[in-house]
Amino acid sequence: MTDFAVTKAMFHLPKGMIYLDGNSLGPLPKAAAARVEQAITAEWGEKVITGWNRAGWMAQPTELGDRIGRLIGAEPGHVVLGDTLSIKVYQALAAAIDLVPDRRVILTDSGNFPSDIYMAEGLIKSLGRGHELRVVAPKDVANHINDDLAVLMLTQADYRTGRLHDMKALTAKAQAAGAVTCWDLAHTAGAMAVDVQGCNADFAVGCTYKYLNAGPGAPAFIYVAPRHIDRCQPALSGWLGHEAPFAFDLDYRPGTGIERMRVGTPPVLQMAALDAALAIWDQVDMVALRAASIALTEHFIAEIEARCPMLTLASPRDPHQRGSQVSFAFAEGYPVMQACIARNVIGDFRAPDLMRFGFCPLFIDMADVDAAVTVIADVMDRKLWDNPRYKKVARVT
Ligand SMILES: *Cc1c(COP(=O)(O)O)cnc(C)c1O
Repeated sequence: MTDFAVTKAMFHLPKGMIYLDGNSLGPLPKAAAARVEQAITAEWGEKVITGWNRAGWMAQPTELGDRIGRLIGAEPGHVVLGDTLSIKVYQALAAAIDLVPDRRVILTDSGNFPSDIYMAEGLIKSLGRGHELRVVAPKDVANHINDDLAVLMLTQADYRTGRLHDMKALTAKAQAAGAVTCWDLAHTAGAMAVDVQGCNADFAVGCTYKYLNAGPGAPAFIYVAPRHIDRCQPALSGWLGHEAPFAFDLDYRPGTGIERMRVGTPPVLQMAALDAALAIWDQVDMVALRAASIALTEHFIAEIEARCPMLTLASPRDPHQRGSQVSFAFAEGYPVMQACIARNVIGDFRAPDLMRFGFCPLFIDMADVDAAVTVIADVMDRKLWDNPRYKKVARVT
């Protein structure tokens, strides 16, 4: 059992703010500031280049990867960190495509995050081998799995609504059809227990700055099932994925195991922040986390529906079909969200009309939900959003 009052005290939460956007950028773990300071002064400052060995910098991508591995149900030694999620999507998809050389179809859904789709399109174009990206509605994915499918590429939870795919069933169906799967866990790693082994996933990727709270620009992770890793030829064959980077050979030979999915120099300062963030996660019981998350989202939905009938629930009503976020649709959702933000209730907006609210039990409790509902209901009842000040669209929504 995890005591969420204890975990809440481990975060710096700006005074008076109710932060319902941990699904987009997690808040600052208090220990991260000191840990990054230590990495700067005691490690970079005092050890300079010897930090690669003496501060363990070179081993961080796999050591921290294993700590994330526990949260996603991975075998030890099969998760590595580095680069951004878009890059990890590219790597995973490129490796997956090569495992099914005689097929050309990549299937995804219109609820996938656009960057994943863009990366797939770019990869297909540079391969020039006639692959086709099929984008179907989320609910139609299962019906499009057939014998021409090479790769099923999905994000487990829809970034707009939190709608969950059945990862186990879709993986089984794709594999029965002779395809391999790439799962993006950006909105599920740290939101609930994920079980890549139990689902028999082939590849999985995710980021660490959302639910995992490692800070803006934190590195992404990639998982490759042990049965595939030795056959994966890295598409991004950087020196740190080489079998012997410090042999400085002119020929590329992929490294051993998951280390071949490394590319270049790891972001050591971000890794320090991630280390501090994972110190909280190391203590979290994922079953308790999911139960708390469901209780929060159920309460939020019931209260908003009772008090704001003009808002339409866009997330699945069944809590087992959604992740740890709740979205409501409203034509003027953008100014509504700006009015809420001006009153220190922070969510975000996704075009065309979705207001998103994330519920992370590590730092959000029932009292926060009640306080947020009071503000949102006030903004709606008194039409506080109907103000030109809230209608000017910012660069990041
Ligand atoms: C957040 C998110 C991304 C962002 O990718 P970056 O390269 O880290 O900017 C990509 N895919 C999904 C599914 C996401 O949720």
